[in-house]
Amino acid sequence: MPSKKSRTIIPTEGKPSAQILSELENMRSTDIKWKEGRVWSLVYYVNEEHLALINQAYNLYFSENMLNPLAWDSLRGMETEIKSMALDLLNGDDETVGVITSGGTESIFQAVYTYREWARKNKSQIKAPEMVVPVSIHPAFEKAAHILGIKIIKLPTGEDLRAQPNAFRKAINKNTIFLAASAPSYPNGVMDPIEEIAQIAKEYRLPFHVDACIGGYMLPWVEKLGRPVPVWDFRIPEVTSISADLHKFGYAAKGCSTLLYRSMDYMKYQFFIATDFPGGIYANATFQGSRSGGPIAAAWAALNALGKEGYLKIAREVMDTADKIKEEINKIPELKILGKPCMNIISYTSVESKPDIFVIADYLEEKGWLVDRQQFPNSIHLTIMKHHLPVIDDYINDLKGAIKFAKDNPGATSKGNAALYGLMARIPFRGMVKSNVRKLFEEMYSNPNSKGNTTTKDKEDKSYSPADNGPAWAGQLNKFLIGINRIFGKK
Ligand SMILES: *Cc1c(COP(=O)(O)O)cnc(C)c1O
Repeated sequence: MPSKKSRTIIPTEGKPSAQILSELENMRSTDIKWKEGRVWSLVYYVNEEHLALINQAYNLYFSENMLNPLAWDSLRGMETEIKSMALDLLNGDDETVGVITSGGTESIFQAVYTYREWARKNKSQIKAPEMVVPVSIHPAFEKAAHILGIKIIKLPTGEDLRAQPNAFRKAINKNTIFLAASAPSYPNGVMDPIEEIAQIAKEYRLPFHVDACIGGYMLPWVEKLGRPVPVWDFRIPEVTSISADLHKFGYAAKGCSTLLYRSMDYMKYQFFIATDFPGGIYANATFQGSRSGGPIAAAWAALNALGKEGYLKIAREVMDTADKIKEEINKIPELKILGKPCMNIISYTSVESKPDIFVIADYLEEKGWLVDRQQFPNSIHLTIMKHHLPVIDDYINDLKGAIKFAKDNPGATSKGNAALYGLMARIPFRGMVKSNVRKLFEEMYSNPNSKGNTTTKDKEDKSYSPADNGPAWAGQLNKFLIGINRIFGKK
């Protein structure tokens, strides 16, 4: 059957390496310039020298496979050392244990799984397990709960955007299997009251997971710099596990996180063992099967190359940069920073919602910044890094320009591309958002030659008509978002 689209197939004859590499360089040349500070999340960068080192370390081990943890002595050694460094940093003791995973999502998934298994064994009367978390917790918890068949109780945060301990007390019931909170939360960079929630965990004898995916390799340095950081780690006896991502402020390569447990009493429930596979006894400590040695070697290289002094120095620079940005935003009367951010993650919005923060976001985007839009409340997120220092003035100038534009054009409405990380700040019907985002993903991942009858059809909702194998993800999303706003009467 002739097809409308040219199908990409494996080339009959291979191309020379030089050509491949030049094609790749060419493709990425039009991507957003993150090294120039245009991106305020996603990439954690020290400098070119560090990047080259972790790149090389990764390359040395990228073929090695930790599927069998006994196969490579060197990788096993590195893994042990990384975990030891992590538990030292987060104030674990001789009983603290842990695993290295592919990222925050896997660390969180494993913790949720472990507590479900723990509860099956230790609270076997529970047939419908529940976990209790603040709404600001990372969606990885909801994802894990969904996959693992656990009910997730999400509690509203207070005015300061932190979890409210009393809400935990009210939500706990006979089906609760564990509690979780963030140090700090991703959206607003505020610390949940870990010590107070720990007291509740103690009262009800529940495990307590602290999600320090973003803070785990940053807060210890911020504390050493003498800045106010409430105690949140294993120094609190009721904290039973911590997730901390090396591929964020550990400045390792992507694909590396640590998950630490107070003791083997919990972690033993995490291991998966199959004994009757014809291929032999099969056992995994984490979700992954085949597992590249690359991220482990790169993380080991990062920790050893930077050392405590290096991390502290970077943390000082990063926090000074964050101070400067906060100071500049505070000087703008139309804007305010949300909550009390404890490290280099902040969010800001407009005072009294005027001007519309998403009009400001649109303007910033036109100036070439990648803007992270958030919801509840509508706001803009910044994860501030070293390489933002040289662009602060540019950013603040554009921010001031945005406010002037919004004031000069009081009728301006946002083009409608609302919070992407959270997706859709203004749409009243969340169910509709969900079905539309699902359609968008079906479209994005569809076979370009499909006749399109496998994707979800929603009769009454014409807000998103799949583009004809149209532009890439960003364009499609934009179109989708504009579409969804159109049905609610916005341009
Ligand atoms: C990044 C992050 C996660 C998820 O980690 P991934 O590495 O993106 O899977 C979870 N929690 C917090 C607080 C995070 O910042």
